[in-house]
Parts: sequence; structure tokens; C-alpha cells
Amino acid sequence: MSDTTPITVARGDGIGPEIMDATLRILEEGGARLAIEEIEIGRAVYERGVPTGIEDSAWESLRRTKVFLKAPITTPQGGGFKSLNVTIRKALGLYANVRPCVSFHPFVQTKHPKMDTVIVRENEEDLYAGIEYRQTQDVFQSLKLISHTGSERICRYAFEYARAHHRHKVTAFVKDNIMKLTDGEFHRVYKTVAAEYPEIEADSLIVDIGTARLADTPEMFDVIVTLNLYGDIISDVAAQIAGSVGLAGSANIGDKCAMFEAIHGSAPTIAGQQIANPSGLLQAAVMMLVHVGQGEAAARIHNAWLRTIEDGVHTADIFDRTLSKRRVKTGVFAEAVIARLGDLPRQLAPVSYQDAEDGEHWKGITVKPWAPALKELVGVDVFFDWPDARPAQVAERIGPLAPRGLDLTFVSNRGQKVWPGEDHDTWCSDHWRCRFMTGSGLATHGQIAGLLADLSAAGLDFVKTENLYRFDGKNGFSADAGE
Ligand code: NAD
Repeated sequence: MSDTTPITVARGDGIGPEIMDATLRILEEGGARLAIEEIEIGRAVYERGVPTGIEDSAWESLRRTKVFLKAPITTPQGGGFKSLNVTIRKALGLYANVRPCVSFHPFVQTKHPKMDTVIVRENEEDLYAGIEYRQTQDVFQSLKLISHTGSERICRYAFEYARAHHRHKVTAFVKDNIMKLTDGEFHRVYKTVAAEYPEIEADSLIVDIGTARLADTPEMFDVIVTLNLYGDIISDVAAQIAGSVGLAGSANIGDKCAMFEAIHGSAPTIAGQQIANPSGLLQAAVMMLVHVGQGEAAARIHNAWLRTIEDGVHTADIFDRTLSKRRVKTGVFAEAVIARLGDLPRQLAPVSYQDAEDGEHWKGITVKPWAPALKELVGVDVFFDWPDARPAQVAERIGPLAPRGLDLTFVSNRGQKVWPGEDHDTWCSDHWRCRFMTGSGLATHGQIAGLLADLSAAGLDFVKTENLYRFDGKNGFSADAGE
């Protein structure tokens, strides 16, 4: 094993410096071999006029050490900038967000004493692309982008995680009854990957009932893998019902870099009082040690922490007269953990992690190459801004402008087919979609450009087009409700 692992540390805002101080002391006393580089991010950087909240020199450190232990930062609200967390995740390729949600019954209050669930959330794609448009007076759009590659990476990560952590089941949460292409692809990839891990049970649930079951009976879940937005929501649900929002850490993992942080924010109202619980950041630091191959130190610290919780030494946020013995400040809690280094918990299950022999535990995920599909252009959807129109009026005006070889096949409004056939009660906004398809054969870009020129000459306000492709003979576009 190499001696020390270089890591980048940011003390953050609010309670950040207090909990980072406590965490670093425990890491040092616990035998973690770390060469720490500090960077500044967050409030002070925003206030210096750097809109991203992070300076170039900090990126340089992050890209060099590739391991980031981050305290929470205060995010300016209502500003026009992307969240620093989203920026860091994307810039460093941190595609997996891993959040273990464990209850510590009977030492910390919870309604779910047996909960031990890990949420693996896709971290880069989905609606978090942040590609949004206002297209008409009435209609706003956000693009949900799901890639086959991103889906495979996160599903494979979830199964690799389950294997490495001796977990028995990976459940996918999807909504492919509605989003048949995007969530459908995620689900298809999940099933293909699952087949390569026969020793791990695999099942899937629609995200709505899945979330309800998670909130009601979390014991039925082991590892959950899901898309970015669903994962964002269910990981907060899971942390909350474990009864331990202040106790949970999370890892953001990429093939080259990784970032570790508590799940909570900078808690500005309790900052500077030494009453914050450093446990969430400490849990994140334990995940970091396992990630860099320092499993023995990770286990020593984790077990000492479990023993501290068992001994009833609690910070104010989890202090309970019936369960706790001492209510302590942040620094005293850290001392209590340090005093228990080498001890194991008596009632809670002790953890064990191994050092990675080659000093580099994480090898990354390899996405399998897949055969390129035959892509054929077969039509185009043209979207119009057309207030106060009726379906038949749209079809009558647009239909005759279809170029030779393309036919207007339907008109829809907010995804509901409204022409042909007008015997419906669908309310129509100012945002219309007209689908032009080839009867047989292929369409050309030239035909589409010609159609747009004719629509423009006719004074029609088209706001967007989507080419319609078939891949290996299968439609790469959704049908409309009512089609
Ligand atoms: P928060 O998590 O900071 O606080 C929520 C509640 O939990 C508060 O009552 C707080 O006092 C308490 N709390 C949180 N952590 C605690 C701890 N370790 N010990 C004891 N009590 C704790 O959420 P918020 O108030 O919505 O956000 C505050 C700021 O943090 C905002 O600027 C927000 O944008 C930012 N934030 C940052 C991150 C991050 O950097 N990863 C994550 C979430 C929120």
C-alpha cells in the first residue's frame, strides 16, 4: 500500500468548518493516511464575484487528487447560476450518487428499526441536464435526456456495489409505463445488466408505488437503483424515515474522481455554536476511506462511531431523554469517538472493510460496446405556437403544405391526439404538434428544410422540430395518447 492518499478538502459554509474540524481530527486519530489539500468553495467565493462558487485553482487540486471531502455550502437562492453541486458532479464525471440509509435502533428514534437500504442514484442525466425552453406564451419545456451508456454505467455500478458489499438484491425504480423510451431504455439496460449477476436478486417497481412501499416498509429494499430525479426524491425520503438525516453520508462516484459529503446542508441557523452533529460528514469520510482502499482505518472509525452512538453520547439533534445518556457539543462528540477507537459496538452490527492490496480499490465501470443500429429518417414532428386555434383548423391549414412524399398523419396538443377525429373534450393550449411521415421509404433533410421554408412563407410560427427516426426498424419516437 502506498503511504498516504492525497485528498482535497473544503470546509464549506455554516456548520461546515465545525463538522469538518471534528471529522478531520477523528480521521487523523483513527489512522487514516491522508495528505490534505484545502480549497475554498461556496459563500466567500460567490461573494468575491465568482458566479460558480469555485475558482480555477480549486479545480486544479480536485483534478489532481481526484478525491474530494466536502462540507456543505450555502447556495445563494433565486440566482441564475447552476448549483455548485451539479457543476462539480458533471465536471468530474461523478455519475453515481450512493446514499446508505440505515437506522440505529434502539439508540436513535426511528419508525423503521430494521431499515438498511442503499440508494444508488444516477447523477448526471435526466432532467438535471437543465435544458429548458419557453416555447409559447403558455408552454414551458424541460428536456429529459437518458443515455444507454449512462444507464448501463449506473446499473452496473449498483450491481458491482451490491456484490462488493454483500448485498442480496438490487431493485430498479422506473416509470416506463409512461416514459417508454427514456425510462424504458433504463429498464431494458437494467435487466440486461442484472442477468450478468445471477447471485443477486433483481426486481423493479414503478417509482410511485415503489416510493410508497419504501416509506412504509423500507425493510423490503436492499439496494435501489434509479434515475436522477426519482433518486433525488427517494433518497431524501429514505434518509428521513431512517430517522437520521443528520447521520447519513453520501458518495458521488466517477471513474476517475469521487466526492464525499454529508447529505444535509450548511444549517446556517446553528452555525458557530458547536452543536452540529458531525456524523453525516464522518460517515461520508468512512466511505471515502473504503473507496481509496484504506478499509482498516474506515472500519476502526466506523465501529468507534457506532459504539459512541450506542453509549448514548449524542449531539442535540438526536438527543432523546429516553434513549440518550449525554448531550454533547460537536468537539466533545469527536473526542468521544476518538476515545472509542479500537472498540466494537456491543449491540449494533460491527462493520468490517479490508484494505485494498494494490492501494487502489476502485477500478471504475466498463460499459460494454454495443452494435450501432441502422438509423433511418422517416418523418418529422413540427411544433407550432398557435393561440386560439381549433384542431381541424390547424390540420386544414398545415396539411396542404406537406411536401411530396410526406403526409400530415396527426395533430396533437400536449401529447394528446386531437386530429383526425374531433369528438373529444381535450383542452388545447397554444402549443401544437403536427406529425409528417413518409408512407413508405425514407424522408430527407432536404424535404424537412423545404417544409419549414414553406411553413415560414405561409406565416406559420413553428417553434421546434423533432426528426423521426427508426433504429433497426423500431420507432425511435413515441406514439401519441389517442393514436
Ligand atoms: P439543512 O440540511 O442545512 O438544514 C435542515 C435542518 O437540519 C435545520 O434545522 C438544521 O439545523 C438541521 N441540521 C442539518 N444538519 C445538521 C447537523 N449536522 N447537525 C444538527 N442539525 C442539522 O438544509 P437547509 O436549511 O434547507 O439549507 C441550508 C443551506 O444549505 C442552503 O443554502 C442550502 O442551499 C444548502 N445546502 C447545501 C447542501 C450541500 O452543500 N451539499 C445540501 C443541502 C443544502
